[in-house]
Order: sequence, then structure tokens, then C-alpha cells
Amino acid sequence: MAIIVQKFGGTSVADADKIRRAAKRAISTKEKGYQVVVVASARGKQTDQLVADALELNPNPPKREMDQLLSTGEQQTVSLFAMALEAMGQKAISFTGGQIRMMTDNAFTKASIQSINAEIMHEQLRQGKIVIVAGFQGIDEEGNITTLGRGGSDTTAVAIAAALDAEECEIYTDVDGIYTSDPRIFKDAVKMDQISYEEMLEMASLGAGVMHIRAVAFGKRYNVNIHVRNSAKDIDGTIITHEVPQMEGVVVSGATVQKDMAKIGLIGVDNIPGNAAKVFAHLAKAKVVVNDIIQTEVSDEKANLSFMTSISDLDTAKETVEGIKKEIGCQEILVRQDIAEVSVVGVGMRTHYGVADKMFGALAKAKINIDSITTSEIRISCAVDEDQAEKALVAVCRAFDLDKPASERTF
Ligand code: ADP
Ligand code: ASP
Ligand code: MG
Repeated sequence: MAIIVQKFGGTSVADADKIRRAAKRAISTKEKGYQVVVVASARGKQTDQLVADALELNPNPPKREMDQLLSTGEQQTVSLFAMALEAMGQKAISFTGGQIRMMTDNAFTKASIQSINAEIMHEQLRQGKIVIVAGFQGIDEEGNITTLGRGGSDTTAVAIAAALDAEECEIYTDVDGIYTSDPRIFKDAVKMDQISYEEMLEMASLGAGVMHIRAVAFGKRYNVNIHVRNSAKDIDGTIITHEVPQMEGVVVSGATVQKDMAKIGLIGVDNIPGNAAKVFAHLAKAKVVVNDIIQTEVSDEKANLSFMTSISDLDTAKETVEGIKKEIGCQEILVRQDIAEVSVVGVGMRTHYGVADKMFGALAKAKINIDSITTSEIRISCAVDEDQAEKALVAVCRAFDLDKPASERTF
């Protein structure tokens, strides 16, 4: 029997009515002949509330304890979801991450999934039950509860879909699908029918919070069909899939803005072999995720090295580079937190020219200064002052006609 995994985000299970609505959807999918696994997030803004509770007692809470606390939000949802299903006459069973042996490493607050025991879920599905699994959490080999990073329930769902070889993984959220840009900031953004894993990976890593980046990476690696949909409507959303040739015809598919980031600049590092390796080896050991590394030679003796990291990793990153400052001959460490990154993404950039020109032109026309520029084969990113981030995003969206369906764009 084919399996469908349905993930419901926080807003889609925020109260009893919404849990009932989600439960009805799971039942109607089962009635179509599928086995159904539901993955649920914490209700509404509960995870934010738990974070606030923790910070009230300790401004720098131990990460293990943070995971122990944050995982409780999802545990509440799944048991309530199972109760709602049972009340509708549908057999159901809920599981925490640990109960389905969702094994992760021990990188508390941003753990990576290593394996899942699919048989535990298969056994319950064979008994005709709907299985509900708590998103966002796992356990390490010592039995500690871990979490996968904010927004991580998407990753739980796609990883389970891969482990069960599911036909589709449906991600139910509060918008109709994936838009050309965040519809909360660019009101005229349009929904895409499909997007490639590659583009979605870039968009997710550059601030499009609609999908957790590791979920997209799992989807790509294990060929999971991901369908992002609105939990309040019965309409098709956006399919995330492998690239098809027509996608190259669209030069820019989407634009993003990322705000919760910081830039660390190491000024006047000794220009000798091995120094960059040293810096990033220490950062990796401290489990700091870095992006957009730029190194420039200042003279034969000195080089400047900068990188971006998320605000949540900033303290650890600062401590780490301070620790090796002397060793690498660094003269000064500069930190900027008032920075944001605006990016455009599209697989068509591989074969079209003029994208950089158009993007920089749009920012110039809006009188927005560019702090630094980074590119990959399918994206261009500009760091700008944080207070100009939204204006920059809108200017870029308008320049690339991201308020129109792909077929009507002039670029
Ligand atoms: P959930 O709680 O269902 O996981 P999220 O808040 O994580 O929901 O993700 C949905 C939100 O992502 C939307 O409300 C939207 O504001 C935001 N978002 C950011 N970029 C995009 C985009 N390109 N397309 C759609 N939504 C986006
Ligand atoms: N509840 C977690 C969060 O708010 C995980 C998720 O919603 O995906 O980040
Ligand atoms: Mg989410």
C-alpha cells in the first residue's frame, strides 16, 4: 500500500479546530487507499514561547536543556492529534522522535538525522492506524533528546518519507505554496507550480523560511516528491522536484532576504599557507555554520578574511576567532550585526547573462549601498544595511518581474 506523509506546521495545528481540520485531511487521504503518517509541529507560536521561558531564567541556557524543553511543544501536538483522530473513529498512535528511533548526532539545537527505524511505523500502519510523529526532534546515542534547528519539522517529514519510501511528502502550511518571494514582504509575489530542489536549496539557505534547508537536501538525495500546500484550502501547491529542461528558460525564479545574520571580518591575517584552514577548522570544531567566505589579499604579508554566520552562532564564532587571533597574526576582528543579504536565485542563470547588471542596477536606483557581493552558479547575493533589507528585496523583485508568472516576464 502506498504511503503519504503529511506535515502540519504550527499555524496549521494552532488550536482544536485546526487540529480537527488537519485530522480530517489525514482521514480522507487514508480513505483514498493510502497509509498515512502525520508529522506535526508545536502549536502556534509555542516554540517561541518556550524559548522566551528559557531566556527568562537563563540568558545563555545549556543547549541540551534547551532541546529537552523545546521538544515538549511537538509532543503535546501529536498526542492531541491522535486523540482527535480517535474521537473521529480513526485508530491512531503518536510517537516522539525517540520512540521511532529517530537517531541524530549530539549537536544540540541543530542536530542532524542519522537513521530512523521505519519498521516501528510500518507495524502500526499495517494495523490500520494513522501514525503521528513529533517533528523537529530525535535522540542521540546516549538517549539525550535533540532538536533539528528551528523549522526542523519539515526535515523530520521528508526524512520519514524517504525512510518509508512514501509516494509523496505533503508540507501543509499557511500559504498556498512556494512564492517567488516571501509574500509577507513582497505582497505581489506569485506562487510557483514547481521549483527544482537546487533552487529551493539556495532559497532556503538564503532566508526563504517556508522550507527547512535540510528537508530539501533529503528530498533531493532520496528522490522524495515534496508538495508544499495550504492547510486551509483544497488546491494544489508547489511541487519541489528534479530539474527539467524547461526550468532553464526561467532566468530568475525567486528572490530572498535573510536578516538574522552577522558578518565577521578578520583584518590583517598573516598571508601564509594554512591560516584559512586553521580558522575554518576551529569554526567547524565549534559547530559554527558559515556562509559567504571572502578572502582578499591586501599585500604580500597580509590578507583580509570575512564570513557570514547566523546570529545564533555569533557568540561561539566570536569566541572561536578570538581564541586563534594571535596565532594567525590577525590585527583586528570586526563584527557587523546590522546586515542583511538579498539574493536572486534561478537555474537559468547558468545560461543567461545580465543578471548581476540588472540586480546591481535595481539596488542603485533604489539608492541602496552594497556592502559585499557573493555568487554561485545559480544565485547572486548582496549584503546591505539591515534597515534597507525590505526595500532592497522589493526593488529586486520588481526589476525581475517576480510579480508575474514566469511566462510573462520580460527578463
Ligand atoms: P510552518 O509553521 O507551516 O512551518 P513557516 O512559517 O515555517 O510555516 O513557513 C511559512 C511562511 O514562510 C509563510 O507564511 C511565508 O511568510 C514564509 N515565506 C518566506 N519565503 C517564502 C516564499 N518564497 N514562499 C512562500 N512563503 C515564504
Ligand atoms: N516547532 C519548531 C519551530 O518552531 C519546529 C517547526 O515548527 O518546524 O521551529
Ligand atoms: Mg516551517
